[in-house]
Amino acid sequence: MPELPEIEHLAASLRASVVGRELVDVRCRQPKMLNLPLAEFARRARGPIVGAERRAKSCLLHLAEGSIWLHLGLGGEVTLAQAPLGDPQLALIFADGWQLLVDKTFMGHAHFLSEEETARQKQGYGPEPLQSDFGLPGLEALLRRRPKQAIKALLMDQARLAGVGNVYSDEVCHAARLYPARAAGSLDSAERRQLFQSLKSVLSEAVAEGGASEYADVRGERGRYEMRIHGAELCRICGTPAGKVSIGGRTAYYCPACQRSQEAVV
Ligand SMILES: [Zn+2]
Repeated sequence: MPELPEIEHLAASLRASVVGRELVDVRCRQPKMLNLPLAEFARRARGPIVGAERRAKSCLLHLAEGSIWLHLGLGGEVTLAQAPLGDPQLALIFADGWQLLVDKTFMGHAHFLSEEETARQKQGYGPEPLQSDFGLPGLEALLRRRPKQAIKALLMDQARLAGVGNVYSDEVCHAARLYPARAAGSLDSAERRQLFQSLKSVLSEAVAEGGASEYADVRGERGRYEMRIHGAELCRICGTPAGKVSIGGRTAYYCPACQRSQEAVV
């Protein structure tokens, strides 16, 4: 599932390609991915696209009176085409004939939210880790509130921190040299700082690289970020075979050599 870096990459490509285009119709062959009946969705989600941004793991297309929240779920692809081939799950049709297509998503959705609902939805997520006002005290407050929770699970909790999922939580713990099942409350101040710096540096680097290579932006440009531990057989830093541990129903990858402090959740 795409996370903060991939959706940031997608939002940037949409700012450059669909902002200014006028949305005139919507087609959808999977109406359950919409939050409104298709006819109502198409009636309300129309007019010029005035902006595109990311919040948490969603990509927002702003219209004059609301926004479309695209969540790509698993495997979702977004492309801009003049004449679509096949029958995509969702097509946003512009006045100039171009169409923004969402396809191949499993569990993805497109929700139209009014201005008020948009503001409320945005507030339902935790802070954005790359925003400059999210500092070490912000992360330390999160760790303090759930001292027994595994740090990986805490990083992935969207209500507490936005945009980090199964992939980048592994990468962040690895960069911080912390075992992902360490209890949040067991980190000393040097480790907390290390986790904070790794959160910022891993995400910034991944954003700069456009995210992971399995995802493309709307122009088909793939990300270039190379995972150092997630999904890898060997740690890319030291070459040790990666270990796996289940945390909160998700599989965490870690390096038994680099992330030695295995003080797990109590
Ligand atoms: Zn290693």
